[in-house]
Amino acid sequence: MPRYSGALAAVLLAMSRVAAPATLAQPAIPTLPTMKTEEGQTVIYDRYTWQRRELDKRLPLNLPWPDNEGTAIQAAFKAYGLDQPPVPATIPIPSRIMTDIYLVNTVPNLTYLIDAGPAGLVLVDPGLELNTESILKNVEKLGFSRSAIKWVVNTHAHLDHAWADAHFQRLGAKILIGRGDVAAVEKATDVTARSALPPAMAAAYPTFKVDWPVDDGEDLVLGNKTFRAIWTPGHTPGSTCYLLTIDGKNILFGGDTLLFDYRLGFQGNSYADDPAYLASLRKLAQFRATPSPAGKVRWDVLLPGHGAIVLDRAYLDVLKALRQVEWDVHTGAEIKALPFYDDDYRKLMFGRPTP
Ligand SMILES: [Zn+2]
Repeated sequence: MPRYSGALAAVLLAMSRVAAPATLAQPAIPTLPTMKTEEGQTVIYDRYTWQRRELDKRLPLNLPWPDNEGTAIQAAFKAYGLDQPPVPATIPIPSRIMTDIYLVNTVPNLTYLIDAGPAGLVLVDPGLELNTESILKNVEKLGFSRSAIKWVVNTHAHLDHAWADAHFQRLGAKILIGRGDVAAVEKATDVTARSALPPAMAAAYPTFKVDWPVDDGEDLVLGNKTFRAIWTPGHTPGSTCYLLTIDGKNILFGGDTLLFDYRLGFQGNSYADDPAYLASLRKLAQFRATPSPAGKVRWDVLLPGHGAIVLDRAYLDVLKALRQVEWDVHTGAEIKALPFYDDDYRKLMFGRPTP
């Protein structure tokens, strides 16, 4: 793979004529700030998650949760000293998360770039079509060539994860998505959520033929990386998580199926299937990479579709999601995508004041 973009390669070549370098210089890649949770997890926070989680610790239980998106919650942040948070508004990009894994987009979803060696690059969930050029520029800022993107792997068909697929296919990438969501992107069905767009944009929603429908348990060998596909239907019919192991760490690409600290997939769509979601979370919690007892996977890193990124002990998030959805399904309660205003979640928070 051409490791460097054209312009950068030309500069490096010119430099090499002056003094023979031992190795090519890597561009400066920001290191992402991490924080420790009360449970000892190392987390890369976005501001949205951090502020609400901290407010959960400070706001007495006898006071109602302020409107989660409005001005009332901004006033509450100010009242509790959370209006100058030590966390940037969005996680900085482009940035390096760990060996061979980079972050290249955060709005409205998290897009990951994986260096799969000389064969090329993998993008996970490119997101909105309007993100395409900024993603390509971020890939170049990391020192890679935009033409090295060979595969786009999707966790599901929702437009905030897969709208840019058709664009990346035109640029030469192969598109992979769980078999259960293939029809959604090929026919732009309601599962893409395109009906949420203004009519003209919905009518122009790009369809394409999927290059590689992904099956449950399939090993996707992409360059020097192997992704194990784990079907996890529920949020959409074809939602799929992926296991990738790097440096002995088991990484979970969670999409909207598995997110940080009780955050869950939005289950308000007509095709959303809560019992299937529960079964999928149970499958993740019990997942074995091989049938042997040693094959039981301890999830270390969680790279979700939105929100905060978890760098260790990600099995805690798997168990939390399973516990919450199990309770909701068994009691017939609505599954809440965001936990912050849930009374049970508020009671869980560490060090909270008693009313
Ligand atoms: Zn989704």
